[in-house]
Parts: sequence; structure tokens; C-alpha cells
Amino acid sequence: DQIAATNDGPDGLNSFLHVDADGALAQAKASDARRAAGEPLHALDGVPIAIKDVLATEGLPTTAGSKILEGWVPPYDGTVTAKLKAAGLPILGKTNMDEFAMGSANENSAYGPVKNPWDHTRIPGGSGGGSAAAVAAFQAPLAIGSDTGGSIRQPGAMTGTVGVKPTYGSVSRYGVIALANSLDQLGPCTRTVLDAALLAELIGGHDPKDSTSVPGRLEGLVEAARSGAAGDLSGVRIGIVTELQGDAWSPAVVERFDEAIEVLKGLGAEISEVSLPSFVHAMAAYYLILPAECSSNLAKFDAMRYGRRVTPEGSPSAEEVMRVSRDEGFGDEVKRRILIGTYALSSGYYDAYYGQAQKIRTLIIEDFKRAFESVDLLVSPTAPTTAWALGEKTDDPLANYLQDLATLPANLAGVPGISIPSGTSSADGLPTGIQFLAPVLEDARLYRVG
Ligand code: GLN
Repeated sequence: DQIAATNDGPDGLNSFLHVDADGALAQAKASDARRAAGEPLHALDGVPIAIKDVLATEGLPTTAGSKILEGWVPPYDGTVTAKLKAAGLPILGKTNMDEFAMGSANENSAYGPVKNPWDHTRIPGGSGGGSAAAVAAFQAPLAIGSDTGGSIRQPGAMTGTVGVKPTYGSVSRYGVIALANSLDQLGPCTRTVLDAALLAELIGGHDPKDSTSVPGRLEGLVEAARSGAAGDLSGVRIGIVTELQGDAWSPAVVERFDEAIEVLKGLGAEISEVSLPSFVHAMAAYYLILPAECSSNLAKFDAMRYGRRVTPEGSPSAEEVMRVSRDEGFGDEVKRRILIGTYALSSGYYDAYYGQAQKIRTLIIEDFKRAFESVDLLVSPTAPTTAWALGEKTDDPLANYLQDLATLPANLAGVPGISIPSGTSSADGLPTGIQFLAPVLEDARLYRVG
């Protein structure tokens, strides 16, 4: 009912691309029946969930926010979808997103932007604006997002919700339409840290179908969230990142961040400042590595095997059909990244761009390792500003990329991160977010401090 009341129409949020009301209701009834029969239930059995449209759901359309996949209905479930179903979570539908998860404002979706539930003239963040807005607007208690450079955490900050990017490889990517394989990670979008912990434990774990899946599974996340709620952080060492401060950060965001630091001190945390010098190159490296990987991933959308095919008149060659289908099927940002990636990978340029970017990536990994020798967690504001006006930065890709300053180092190094609400801005009354980062596989620390 809440989705029906708030999603569509001129003032609708547009956070759902597809709603499966009948399917979700049937799953909810099955959950009731299990409860009535006294069967052992998962803690989230019967709790409805929304899924970002980047993850395959058998029988439900999956578009990745792109026209090129319009009408595609996957014949199989991604591993995370299968786990949600097995635990009894009714699947409400698929959430809007930037096309192929490229963006920070959800304005690159081929199906129109999502509105920020707190102010319908503002963006909800991206690329997972639909999942975050759905949770913030009480359309769904839980949602799945994907984070390649911040797309769970930054929309979390913009909508006043909790978003977690787990350790790379700890949640299966099987059935995820890849943006950049070495950076992508699924994770929870929720209203509380405890909800995020419950969901993360459920969706995590080794998957033989994902060659980058880490062995074993992350445990103790729920316990960590519960123990943290007791409010004692004595002895926890938290480092403020030197490189994630300065003029790029709006004063209203910094004001709330400084307050949050005082709260942490009051709970007994030891606060220091830590420098990670390579962070200043993270954006340049990310915006070479990501286009390189995605230009290769998107080559499969050739209108021959699946997806939307546009056939020009006459007797066009196969190449002509591919060219026209890709021209009409992909949006501007996708084309921009395909061009950058193809260029960066061309012979003669490979060493100068992709090779250099990979070296920076190594430096970032080393900086994280060094930092985590002296602190347990790193902290920064999640995003430099609060949500901006719809349309304000649409034609300025660089202004959008700058939003990712704080979030993308975690993806380059594979470390986990959480964004939690840190109060509303005194300038515009919109949500701000604070981000914590932990060493690889130490996700439990995020839930404790969160
Ligand atoms: N804003 C980043 C980008 O456009 C992050 C994307 C993501 O995490 N999916 O690439």
C-alpha cells in the first residue's frame, strides 16, 4: 500500500521499477503458515525486501536501469536472491538505479530519476537511489544495494539510512550484472545497524559460483551490533582520515561530523588523525580502472544473445544491428565510460593509464594496511555535501565523480565500510552521513561502532 501510495505519478518517488505485489503477498502468506506451524524461522522470515535492479531475480524483470535490457526476465536467481527466498523474505520488487550502476545521483537511469523522500526536488544519491529511497520512505524495511565506488553508502547518507559495503568477496556476485568485477559488492540498505547486521549475515558466505568469493563466512555481525548498542567503545582506536577533509567538504556536513566525533569520544573511543597520502589519487585511478573493466563487461550487450535489438531498415549486417542497438540502448554516461575504458586499454596507452592506475591501487592497499596498524577503524563524512537539486549536476560528470572522494578508496582496496546517519544539516535540513572503514574481513567492527 505504501509503495502504491508513494511510488508513481508526477510527485511519486520512482524508487521501484517493478513491483511484485502478488508474489510478495504469496510469500508473506507462506511465512505466516510456517510461523503457525511452529517451524523454526530465520529472524527475517516474513520481512519484505526490495532488490536493486542489478541482481538477477528469476521471473522478475531485471534491467540494471538500462534500455538495452528492457524486457529481460532472468531465467535464474542470483545467489543472494536465492538466499533471501530460502530464508522466507518476501520480495517486493526491483529498485531504480543509475544505468549499470554508473552515477551518484540516480539521474543516469533510463527510467527517470528517483526523488529524495525528504525533499522531492532533490536527488537521493546513487547509483542505488531506489533502494535507499525505498527504505527511507517506508516502502520497504530492507533493501539490497550494490557498491562499486559508494553506491550503497552515499545514497544512505543522502537519505538518512544505513548502508554497508561488506568486504570484497564476502557476498556472492553470482547473478549481479557486473559494473566492475574487481570493485562490485552487494550489501544491505536498512534503517538500523542491527537490521543491516541480520541481513549481511544472511546474504554472506562462500559461493563456488563466484570465483572471487572468499572462503568461509563473516560471523558475529549481529552480536557486534548488539554489543555496540550498549554504548561502550572504550579502547576502540578510530582514525580521522587527513585526506578526507578540506575545502571540498561542505561546512554543514563537517559540523555534524565533528559532533559525531565528540559522541564517539564520549563513548570512550580513542580518536586520532591518520594520513593515507595515496587517497588523493584514488579518484583518478578509480575512473580508469572502472571504465576499463566496464567497457569489457558491456561488450556482451550486442543485441544478439539477449536484451533489446534494434534492426534498421533494409538488410543490415550483424555489425550494423549491434551498432544501432548499442547506440539506442546505452545512455550518455555508459557510452562515456565505454570510450574512456576502451581508450585506456588500447595498445600503446595501457601502461600509461591502466597500468599506472593499478599501481595507485596497490599504494592505496598499502596505505590502508599501514593505517590499520595504529587504528581499528577509519572515519570520514560519507559524502562531501548533502543531496543536491535534481538537474543541478546532470550535465557535469566530474561534479558527480567528486561525490565519491570518500567512498571509493574502500572499493579499490576491498575493505568494508558502513555509512550511518549523523544528523541533519543546519544549512538545508537534509540528512548527512558518517562513514567507518575497517580492515578486510573485520566487518564486525563496523557493526559495533555503528
Ligand atoms: N558513483 C560511482 C560511479 O559512478 C559509484 C558507482 C557504484 O558504486 N556503483 O561509478
